[in-house]
Amino acid sequence: MADRFFPNEMPEFVEEQEGVGAQSTLHTLLYLPYTKLADNFLRAALDLKEKVVKETWVSNGRRVKDFTLYTGALGTAFLLLKAYQVTNNRSDLSLCSEIIRACDTVSAGSRHVTFICGRAGVCALGAVVAKHAGDDALVNHYLSSFREIKLRDVPNELLYGKVGYLWACSFLNKHIGESTIPLTHTSLVAKEIISVGKRLSNKGTCPLMYEWHGKKYWGAAHGLTGIMHVLMDMELKPEDKECIKGTLSYMIKHRFPSGNYPSSQGSESDRLMHWCHGAPGVALTLTKAAQVFQDEHMLQAAEEAAQVVWSRGLLKRVGICHGISGNAYVFLSLYRLTGRIEYLYRAKAFACFLLDRADQLIAEGRMHSGDRPYSMFEGQAGMAHLFLDMIKPSESRFPAYEL
Ligand SMILES: [Zn+2]
Repeated sequence: MADRFFPNEMPEFVEEQEGVGAQSTLHTLLYLPYTKLADNFLRAALDLKEKVVKETWVSNGRRVKDFTLYTGALGTAFLLLKAYQVTNNRSDLSLCSEIIRACDTVSAGSRHVTFICGRAGVCALGAVVAKHAGDDALVNHYLSSFREIKLRDVPNELLYGKVGYLWACSFLNKHIGESTIPLTHTSLVAKEIISVGKRLSNKGTCPLMYEWHGKKYWGAAHGLTGIMHVLMDMELKPEDKECIKGTLSYMIKHRFPSGNYPSSQGSESDRLMHWCHGAPGVALTLTKAAQVFQDEHMLQAAEEAAQVVWSRGLLKRVGICHGISGNAYVFLSLYRLTGRIEYLYRAKAFACFLLDRADQLIAEGRMHSGDRPYSMFEGQAGMAHLFLDMIKPSESRFPAYEL
């Protein structure tokens, strides 16, 4: 099991102090006053952003092969928007817009409907970026394209299913304006998802259950965690809200003794510590549930999940889906909710580990840079996004998961 992650030998906590000469460059970073460290994150993020643009856009002749946010060009656009929000550099915004226009053309006939892997991501991000650019006609173009998306024979999960589409609706309602996508529409889709979940649960001890490709997944990408996460933003009847709470409680009760979570119903393999499968994705969702339901039990479970991410989450990969960058967001999320400096320290420790060692470990072949090494979910675009989020941690958001 240990070959999946580096042992976490970083201190549990250190106070920031000026000028501390520590035992390694990593330790020195951990002691740095936050403003100085934030400058390091900014420099590294902007260098990485240039590299990502070069590798995913310029080298491809400014053409799009894979349009998705997950592994493709939309991930580069998402990173450029984030960079623009941090630095206010208008050229990032205009390049972002150009890339989305190319994604729009390529994705026009796509049958995929979600934010992360489908057409909804292109249209929703396109509308938000057009709003930043002050181009109303373009906002309307993307919104009308979004409204043409049809949910036919679509599963329920986040990467390819209905909740991945609903997340895009919530994103639009947050960034363009309330009721951009009317409640009557989103509630109807949410109701369908709940009724499928009740049917498949078949009055079992877990109130809601879902299948994707014949398997009852638990994780954020394809399973219960991601579905509950998005449903919490929907307008639902009290009894349906109780079903969400009950489903999360069932998962907490049936987690592994280690504190990690199975990747699917009945799985006994306590192995994966990813956002997509395992405790990190669950921790983000439980942190949100603690807030939505004002529930101490959910917060405690989120903190317990974060503890196992701290000890086993220094994965030998960089990305946000199944790498260190994604796992760092667990601590950022708990920091935003609790305000506890210990969580900011833990996020900082994971991000500093990447800042200090990722290049070297990848060069030595001891760390995998991702099948798509410059992508948002598998590669270094996700790491750059994390570094940008470390500059203003109170405004951090796991890409395409935290609203
Ligand atoms: Zn993954």
